[in-house]
Amino acid sequence: MDIIHLLPDSVANQIAAGEVIQRPASCLKELVENSLDAGAKRVQVIVRDAGRTLLQVIDDGCGMSEMDARLAFERHATSKIREAQDLFSLRTMGFRGEALASICAVAQVEMTTRRAEDETGTLIEIHGSDVVRQEVCSCPVGTNIKVSNLFFNVPVRRKFLKSDQTELRNLLTEFYHIVLVYPKVTFTFVHNDEILLELTAGTEKQRIEAIFGNPKRNVYTSAFVEINTETELVTIRGFVIKPENATRKAEQYFFVNGRFMKHPYFLKAVQTAYSGMLPSDFQPSFFIYFDIAPEAIDVNIHPTKTEIKFADEQTIFQILMASVREALGKFTLAPTIDFDTQGAIDIPVPTDKNKVQKPQMSIDPNYNPFKSRNTNTIYPDKTPRNWESLYTTPKPEYNLPTDIQDPWNLLQPEEVESCPIWQYRGKYILMPCSGGLAFIHQHRAHAAIMREQFIEQLAASQSAMQQLLFPEVLELPQDDLVLLEQLLPDLRSIGFELEQLTPNSYAIHGIPAQLTNQSALPTLQHILTQVREHGSHSQVEWREQIAQTLAENAAIPSGKSLTEEEMREIVTKLVQLPAYRRDANGKIIVSLLTDEEISKKF
Ligand code: ADP
Ligand code: MG
Repeated sequence: MDIIHLLPDSVANQIAAGEVIQRPASCLKELVENSLDAGAKRVQVIVRDAGRTLLQVIDDGCGMSEMDARLAFERHATSKIREAQDLFSLRTMGFRGEALASICAVAQVEMTTRRAEDETGTLIEIHGSDVVRQEVCSCPVGTNIKVSNLFFNVPVRRKFLKSDQTELRNLLTEFYHIVLVYPKVTFTFVHNDEILLELTAGTEKQRIEAIFGNPKRNVYTSAFVEINTETELVTIRGFVIKPENATRKAEQYFFVNGRFMKHPYFLKAVQTAYSGMLPSDFQPSFFIYFDIAPEAIDVNIHPTKTEIKFADEQTIFQILMASVREALGKFTLAPTIDFDTQGAIDIPVPTDKNKVQKPQMSIDPNYNPFKSRNTNTIYPDKTPRNWESLYTTPKPEYNLPTDIQDPWNLLQPEEVESCPIWQYRGKYILMPCSGGLAFIHQHRAHAAIMREQFIEQLAASQSAMQQLLFPEVLELPQDDLVLLEQLLPDLRSIGFELEQLTPNSYAIHGIPAQLTNQSALPTLQHILTQVREHGSHSQVEWREQIAQTLAENAAIPSGKSLTEEEMREIVTKLVQLPAYRRDANGKIIVSLLTDEEISKKF
């Protein structure tokens, strides 16, 4: 008997919906993006009960013909790409033709739509993929789509939704991501009959202030400096906060070609540019827009599309860091150093003046700010060796904690190879270095190194697994089961082999080689808790959480005595990380007892 059969479309769509529509916020995102792709100049969003009962989007875009109105809800129906080739030159936000099919599989949808050239419009009503009504109607030009009772037929999903407050916050976050790149479009956002946002058309700056310029968010554009760097590879513009206006809670936004993105690596570039300028628990706020040839990025990684892979991330890292440093340096040093007249200094960042001539910027992809300056550099001989000192800002008024002073060249790899090294109280590695005596937290240092390795392994889907002789059993409550299912592919690619035993338990057959048998179960549970509590929705965030948890569990503990080689290896690898002074949670890894502090003691 044949046992393979094709899934009915309604079932296939429900499965796909699990990927694309995870919560009301993802549904809203898809709808608003469609309106913008349709060229709307005015978009109204009307929400009830944080999107559980109603999500409505009304636009004045191009509308659809009668035929298209029906086709739009079919899977892989899109007007945006025709062939695989088109994927590489994407300029629209949507392109998979999955969103509407997914939404109508898990909700009750009613849409009216009309094109300018048609006298009448179309009304179509679909409940859980079944078309219940399609008729001619009279309606304004554009599209009005109403999504009611989201997940009415998927109880598990409904159960997985958080409180109205949290879901509303998610809706607004998604909304900000979009409206920040479309300042010329007018938007309103209404929740339970209350107008939460009214955004009129204007500039990017005005849009940022209209959203965040309130006492609660405290983002006023006067607190920012502009960055603007054009190179052959990429254009980077936007606003970064002046160091003295930074706070503990930051607004951090990256956009690429009109799309919001998360990019932990580029975040590090910005943080590195600020190092030494902010008190330890402060974060820089920024709104940074990248423009790059569509061929140089790959947005087709995940349906929720916040992950974006760049062809040349290392080079962009440097351009970004230089660009932010330049903006901050210019701002703090403006009265003392005039970049435009000090012609002898050939800094690889275009100034305003030569930007007009579009210089070809030469970039050294091997450049690493933590490596010694005189190897591999492409700067001409006349460049002063210490050009980077131009970028270091004068000491701010407040006293910086010692752990963030002197962020540059604290530990040179050559020094690490040759200088004495000791272990102190089984917890710290001690090493004399150029500025004093460095204290390195052995557990955090090793965890930071491993975290980076795990992230790489996750991205490359290659990691070493050890088979467990006696499988452990993981029992989970309903909520965690849904979560675990979403995490499974990533957990697998990092070395967990899991098999579902009963509806709410899994057998652990294999674990990452770096873990011990005893730590397998607690690590998995810790990963789930972390992901659940941090409310991470994107794969990048899951991966970071997984990598972080694994690293914390696998890293050498405090209290373990280390050989000299082990200590040297840890420090050598540590200083190669893009940012090594603090770990991902902001905890200090390296602290410096300066020579000055030491001599003061005598
Ligand atoms: P995608 O956006 O990936 O193409 P969707 O499922 O989101 O897929 O939409 C399918 C198609 O329906 C779109 O390609 C577009 O032609 C049409 N469409 C959807 N929403 C709108 C809208 N608000 N105005 C005009 N056309 C729309
Ligand atoms: Mg779409």
